[in-house]
Amino acid sequence: MKKILPLASVLVPGGCGDSCCGKPRQGGDNTACPVCGKAGEIVFGNTVRKLLKPGLAAPQDRYLICRTPDCAAVYFHPKGGLFRQEDVTVPVYFKAGAVPVYACYCAGVTKTQVVHAINKTGVTRWAAIIKEITGVVPKCGCEAKNPLGRCCSGNAYAAAMAESSAKPVPVRKSRDPLHGLTLETILTYMLELHGWEGLWRRIPVRCFQYDPGIKSSLVFLRANPWAREKLENWYICEVPKPKKTRG
Ligand SMILES: [Zn+2]
Repeated sequence: MKKILPLASVLVPGGCGDSCCGKPRQGGDNTACPVCGKAGEIVFGNTVRKLLKPGLAAPQDRYLICRTPDCAAVYFHPKGGLFRQEDVTVPVYFKAGAVPVYACYCAGVTKTQVVHAINKTGVTRWAAIIKEITGVVPKCGCEAKNPLGRCCSGNAYAAAMAESSAKPVPVRKSRDPLHGLTLETILTYMLELHGWEGLWRRIPVRCFQYDPGIKSSLVFLRANPWAREKLENWYICEVPKPKKTRG
């Protein structure tokens, strides 16, 4: 049996798995970086504590991370406490001078490797790219390994796709990325990529954990729009988006 994380460490009000798309968490929690003055984004204390070098204490429940590339600050807290890149064990991918630039911290895969894999094989699905590089589909360890404490797949994916020779998959003509897709299609796709355990780790609902099946999961997801939305948003994150065209 896998050790199951207490839910409280995964789900905290105002910060849910939906933030994997790279959008800042909503809410009035943002505060200015003491170095550059730009608003930071919330990162949970658990993530900060796992990524700081030994001997550095980070007692708070939440911190803010500065996203400004050329700002020296990484984590900070409004009540004091400032950590810079040299205090953090992994290079923060969006900071200037990060070497290497990680695309996936969970799998230890760099953006250069991702671009190379896309160019070499033409695969464009995130899990398939990582599998091509490492031989396995990574277990999600974003909370502990990604400096943002959230899913790596949004990290450098768009950037790597843009740098690669991959033609974006023309998923939908419609602006709605889910247009024409049934819930069953989405569930089946995500199940193929992540397995039931992966689904449950991301969306901790009973139907993914106990005796899981497509049919029972569809029933649950249709009855629980919040869970359905999480799955759909996750799907949108992982499916290559068509490049914008004029007209
Ligand atoms: Zn800053």
